[in-house]
Amino acid sequence: MLILNDILTFIVPRCPICEDVTSGVHYGVRTCESCKLFFKRTVQLDREASYSCIRSYDCMVNVQTRAWCKLCRFNKCLNAGMNTRLVKKLMIDPENRPRQLIS
Ligand SMILES: [Zn+2]
Ligand SMILES: [Zn+2]
Repeated sequence: MLILNDILTFIVPRCPICEDVTSGVHYGVRTCESCKLFFKRTVQLDREASYSCIRSYDCMVNVQTRAWCKLCRFNKCLNAGMNTRLVKKLMIDPENRPRQLIS
C-alpha cells in the first residue's frame, strides 16, 4: 500500500539540476527555487566567468552537493534548457541609464 508521501514524491516533478522539489517553471525549465535563484544571480551579475571547476567538469550535482561546484551546476542548468535571455539583466553600468529627454 502506497503512503501519500510516496505518491507525492512520484507525482511532483523533481528539479533536473539538483533533484530538489520544483516550485514552477523558471527561465523555460521546471526547477527548484534554489536553482532558479542561482541561475538568475549568475546571469544578472555575469558571474559565469568567475566560476571554475577543480575537477573535470563532471561534478555530481544534487541537493547535498549543489553548492560545491558552481560551474558544473550552471552547466547543468544550461543543459536542462534554462534560457539566459529570459533573465532580466541588471543595469549596473551607469552609461546604460536611461537619459532624460531634452525638450
Ligand atoms: Zn534545483
Ligand atoms: Zn565541477
